[in-house]
Amino acid sequence: PDPLFEQAFEVMRKIEEAGGEAYIAGGAVRDYVSGRAVGDIDIASSLPPSRIQEIFEKVIPVGIEHGTVIVRHRSVSYEVTTFRTESGYEDYRHPDEVTFVSDIRTDLARRDFTMNAMAMDRHGKIIDPFNGKEAIQLQQIEAVGDPCDRFQEDPLRMMRAVRFSSQLCFEVAGKTKEALVQQAPLLANISMERIADETRKAFAGNGVRKAVELLDKTGLLQQLPSLNETGIQRTPPLGPLKTWPEIVSFLWLKDPSFSVSPFLKTWKRSNQEKRETDQLKEAFTLFTASGDVTRWLAYTLSEPLYRSFARVAEAAGSALGTMERLVNQKNQLPIKDRKDLSFESVDLIAMFPDKKKGPWISKTMKAIERHVVEGMLENDYEKIKEWVITWNPPGNN
Ligand code: ATP
Ligand code: MG
Repeated sequence: PDPLFEQAFEVMRKIEEAGGEAYIAGGAVRDYVSGRAVGDIDIASSLPPSRIQEIFEKVIPVGIEHGTVIVRHRSVSYEVTTFRTESGYEDYRHPDEVTFVSDIRTDLARRDFTMNAMAMDRHGKIIDPFNGKEAIQLQQIEAVGDPCDRFQEDPLRMMRAVRFSSQLCFEVAGKTKEALVQQAPLLANISMERIADETRKAFAGNGVRKAVELLDKTGLLQQLPSLNETGIQRTPPLGPLKTWPEIVSFLWLKDPSFSVSPFLKTWKRSNQEKRETDQLKEAFTLFTASGDVTRWLAYTLSEPLYRSFARVAEAAGSALGTMERLVNQKNQLPIKDRKDLSFESVDLIAMFPDKKKGPWISKTMKAIERHVVEGMLENDYEKIKEWVITWNPPGNN
């Protein structure tokens, strides 16, 4: 079917030659059936990890107790997991017990949604005991078995339903949706890190509006600290937001009284994400003030954040084409960096030998930089010197 699958089939053939069974299972089969680009390929196998380690040269033991190892084959990684069921879930986090089982159908039954509970053998035959194919045709997210039980077992599955609705633009099937409403409060038992991951993915899909509506209608939004106070359901993003800095600067853009720092803290975001959020905020302050992507904006915003800026702008309903505008402005910049200026702070200090050092230096340098960047002052030593005299005459503090 897919050239990526052909290579996985080689791994599966080796497992079969060693006396085991092997299937591609989960997300890759779902993506293949629905005609989407396949991501990572996971393999389910009847053999225990110890046997897999014997068969392949390069094996990384990532989760032996859960039956999972990574097999490297032709520079591609495959998660190979022994057929298993799960039971317990007393802490709502990890199953108390992982039991290895002998057949793929039992393994498929432990999976969350019917679309994720399909397997493919190495001849391309699909094993689909829960009618996942049909669910995909109907564009529906449907729990395997009783949805209430399944969400009770692992409440994170509720957030997975939301993020799949965003990623795939699917609807949650009737009974499964009812169970979301019923079990939403159980989300309180799940760690912030895991919820945060699914929440980010819920914002990152083309179906983000569907996802936000679903969060609101099911009461799951009530379980998401801080986010529930933002009014996001009234002004959902018009397009996907891929990172936390994008999500947070979007929230701030929609409501300037929104407090960024406590939000980031609640959601356990990193310092890096905090810095990126601050940068985006600064860029949007410039954007709002001038109503345009100015050269100064393109200059001060670091290039890796251009995409983020454009996505937030689009999600907030600003004109399309922001990315092109940013790149255009960037290409026209007379300097790329402060150190490209032909005038340095030592030159400035030399002009005013009697003046006490102080904030005026960096203030003046900043003004020079901005004037040069915006094309109002030539990047020429003499011209800048001249400009300084008129802009900041000696004696003016
Ligand atoms: P993605 O493309 O985002 O990776 P995925 O379907 O592969 O989507 P994973 O989180 O990688 O999602 O999980 C792989 C498979 O494991 C799923 O398709 C599903 O069959 C099963 N699975 C994952 N998490 C759960 C869960 N919490 N409960 C039940 N089954 C799960
Ligand atoms: Mg996956």
